[in-house]
Amino acid sequence: MPELPEVETICRGLHSRLAGRRILSVQVRERRLRCLVDRKLAESLEGKTILRVERIAKYILLSLRGDSVWMFHLGMSGKLVHIDPQTPKRKHDHILVRLDSGQELRYHDPRRFGLSLLVAANELYDLPQLKRLGLDPFDARFTGSYLHSFTKRSERRVRDLLLDQQIVAGIGNIYANEILARAGVRPTTRSWKLKRAKVEEIAATIPEVLNEAIRWCGTSFSDYRDADDKFGEFQNHLRVYDRGGEQCRLCTSPIKRVAIGNRSAFYCPSCQK
Ligand SMILES: [Zn+2]
Repeated sequence: MPELPEVETICRGLHSRLAGRRILSVQVRERRLRCLVDRKLAESLEGKTILRVERIAKYILLSLRGDSVWMFHLGMSGKLVHIDPQTPKRKHDHILVRLDSGQELRYHDPRRFGLSLLVAANELYDLPQLKRLGLDPFDARFTGSYLHSFTKRSERRVRDLLLDQQIVAGIGNIYANEILARAGVRPTTRSWKLKRAKVEEIAATIPEVLNEAIRWCGTSFSDYRDADDKFGEFQNHLRVYDRGGEQCRLCTSPIKRVAIGNRSAFYCPSCQK
C-alpha cells in the first residue's frame, strides 16, 4: 500500500510532466472504484489545464484551471502513471487521459480500492476524507510537543498511534516500523510510557525517515511504481520491516516479528528498548 513517500514521489514526477498540460479527453473504463466515479467526470475534465500536482497526506491532487481539483487516492494497489500512448492498455487500466503533450495519464488499479473525485477547490477541505486528517509530518506545526499531547494520554502501542491518520497523516506500517527502529523504540511500547524526550526524538525521526525514503523514490514490494512506472528502492534500505529472522544491520541480532492486531511489527531486540 503506498504511503507518504511513495505518494510524494509520484506527485513530484507527475508535477514535472503535467503542469501546464491540457486534458484533451478522458475515458473512464471502470466506474466501480472505492466510490463510484462520477458519470460526468470525462465531460467535466475535457479542455481543462492542469496547473500543478500536489499531495495532502496520501491524496494526489491535480489542481485545474477554473478552481477545481481532481483528487486521487491509490488505495491498496492503484497506480497513476504518465505513459506513452503506444504502450498496450492493460486489464485494470480504469481511467485513460489524453494530454496535449501527446502523452497519456493512466489510472490502473486491480483491487479497485482507489478513489477518483473532482471537486471545487473551495470545497476540498469539506470532504470527509480530508476533514479529519491529522497534521502532515512535514507541516511546521508537527512537533515533539504535538505528538506528546497524544502519546501522554494513550494506552495504545506506539506503532498503532503512529498509524492513526487523525494524529499524523501519511504513515503506514512500513514507515511506522522504520521510524521506531531509528528512534530505538519498540513498536509494542505503550504510548503513555514514553518519556517526553523520546517522543521528541520520534517526532524528529519521522520527517528524516520519510525524506530518506523519498530520496530513494519510495518502497516497492509489490504494486507500487512511481509516475514513470518504475520501482522505488527504499526496500533495500529498510532496517526492520519485513526482515523477521534476518540480522540487524547495526548489531547482527535477529530481527523479531510480532503480530499487533492484524499487522506485523518488526524490531531489533537489542537496539530497540
Ligand atoms: Zn540491532
